Amino acid sequence: KAQNMGFIGLGNMGFHMAKNLINAGYKLTVHDINHNAVNKFKEMGIATKETPFDIAESSDIVITMLPSSANVLEVYTGRNGLLHGNNPLRPWLFIDSSTVDPLTSRTISEEISNRLLKECRGDSSSPVMLDAPVSGGVPGAESGTLTFMVGGSKEAFKAARPVFQSMGRQTVYCGAAGNGAAAKICNNLAMAVSMVGVSEAFALGQRLGVSATVLTDIFNSSSARCWSSDTYNPVPGVLASAPSSKGYSGGFSSKLMLKDLALAFASANGVRLGCPLAAKALEIYAELCEGGHEAEDFSCVFRHHYSGKDE
Ligand code: NAD
Repeated sequence: KAQNMGFIGLGNMGFHMAKNLINAGYKLTVHDINHNAVNKFKEMGIATKETPFDIAESSDIVITMLPSSANVLEVYTGRNGLLHGNNPLRPWLFIDSSTVDPLTSRTISEEISNRLLKECRGDSSSPVMLDAPVSGGVPGAESGTLTFMVGGSKEAFKAARPVFQSMGRQTVYCGAAGNGAAAKICNNLAMAVSMVGVSEAFALGQRLGVSATVLTDIFNSSSARCWSSDTYNPVPGVLASAPSSKGYSGGFSSKLMLKDLALAFASANGVRLGCPLAAKALEIYAELCEGGHEAEDFSCVFRHHYSGKDE
């Protein structure tokens, strides 16, 4: 794999994803505004750059893994951003794996197309962008088993497959630009609502005298079976491997869930779809975060929202 690859955003997820690309044989150059994050790669002998623009100038493929839509816009279109200046773009592929709103992905994708129109380029060598958010969390990033939800041109998706396979197990094509981002926030909206629903049912079961273990057996062999009951049970002690049995540590933080619900809610407003369950889940997770539980796994809704609560 002779391709030079740039990676921006070396946080909880990006650190492991970048390492997996190095292990797969890509020649990486990295950037982050956090010097500690960059230093870990310097110590491994990996090249680093001061700005996203420097990354673009030295890379054939660029991957971004950043906290929010605002960060992604800044890294692409800000001063010294990936798209800075008027020179022809060197990278043939930009992949954004951050969880952002579909509008941000579509805006940047259009920005790249407009730039190519100005450059009178529209051939097969023209750069393309894929939005490719992930599911699987930090453990999935570390073990290279992420699921990628990809939006953008199908040709680019096919060409990028080896890159995704170096960091993940499943790669699903979701359609045009922004559709990967849309799929991701829909998945997490359903996950939040299901977690809150399962937690509410377990709290009621316990009040009515049914143990969580019995109720789990019932759910898992009945119509309420779902990921929140059989893989990620929110009641401590039911599943040893779930964050609930480890003091709600590790896993997917309430803060990130709040972020994703806010994206879902804003997107629903944008298309004038009433989403009362998204609104309620958003309110619950905002309350949990304000109550100091933002770093705990999002299944802590069972303990902090339902346990010991009397109406
Ligand atoms: P993080 O905050 O740990 O890492 C983000 C990194 O981006 C940090 O190192 C930060 O310094 C860097 N950064 C921020 N702004 C920058 C800029 N302008 N230029 C260069 N670097 C910049 O976040 P994370 O947990 O790795 O998550 C990254 C993305 O993946 C988010 O969009 C998140 O929603 C999504 N995600 C996270 C998880 C998870 O479990 N952590 C799971 C699925 C998806």
